[in-house]
Amino acid sequence: MTLLTRTCKEVAALLIAREDRTLRLGERLALRIHLRICEACPRFERQVLSMRNGIKQWRNYTNSD
Ligand SMILES: [Zn+2]
Repeated sequence: MTLLTRTCKEVAALLIAREDRTLRLGERLALRIHLRICEACPRFERQVLSMRNGIKQWRNYTNSD
């Protein structure tokens, strides 16, 4: 179980890393478990996801220029 236990700090790092690379199965599991038991991290995940959309729009914008 400790294998799948992550601190909020580690989870935040994983959420950001997920934008750049595919997470390993253990990382994805740990992330899912932590997001289920934590209150703060799901909120942070939403921020990362909306940031991703913002970056996508920004990229489209610069590409069309
Ligand atoms: Zn957390």
